[in-house]
Amino acid sequence: MRIGLISDIHSNLAAFRAVLSDMPKVDEIICVGDLVGYGAEPNEAVKLARSKGIRAVMGNHDYAAVTKDVRGMNDRAAAAALWTADVLTRENLDYLASLPTHLEFKAEGQRIYVVHGSPRDPLGEYVFPEFSNRDMAEVVKEVEADVIVLGHTHIPMKRVVLGKIILNPGGVGQPRDRDPRASYAVLELGKELKIRFQRVEYDVAAAAEKIKAAGLPEELATRLFFGW
Ligand code: ZN
Repeated sequence: MRIGLISDIHSNLAAFRAVLSDMPKVDEIICVGDLVGYGAEPNEAVKLARSKGIRAVMGNHDYAAVTKDVRGMNDRAAAAALWTADVLTRENLDYLASLPTHLEFKAEGQRIYVVHGSPRDPLGEYVFPEFSNRDMAEVVKEVEADVIVLGHTHIPMKRVVLGKIILNPGGVGQPRDRDPRASYAVLELGKELKIRFQRVEYDVAAAAEKIKAAGLPEELATRLFFGW
């Protein structure tokens, strides 16, 4: 079976659509959090995720939109989160509020664990690719899973530590590895486990223009062109 992994859509409808149309046929799509925040089309992004039956966990920006609790966010992120909280429909806020902080399930005999930040700090911790094996082991040692899928850093990653595979599909709506193309991954489970990372071009200028037109911090538009 194949699972499409997406994360950090961040209200970027153009990037989200591009990823969905580029993705090969999969049995299920899982979103590793942050459907909203930063971008200008939160309702459209949530609606699309719901209409596609995408299973999602809560990200820190989803949480901030629901609660208006922006502690720990920088000024730009906080401004966007409060803007998002105001424009989201009641129905979409309720949906975001209903998201679990993590998912655990079995597929093809593999135990899969999905969380936005890290198992020990679901909304807050960044697990970066440059973590040492020892630091990575600390993050995942308590988790009984074969595959651990993380988001939050917006940087694609594959590591194997303590016999566990740790994945991050990168960011759909605001990549941060200096490649502005939308990022996602396809996990193939079966006799052997395969992970394929994909990048997709989308209309960055259109997404950036919408951010500016919405009155959101201009840097949130600029950064999309550079992927940081
Ligand atoms: Zn994010």
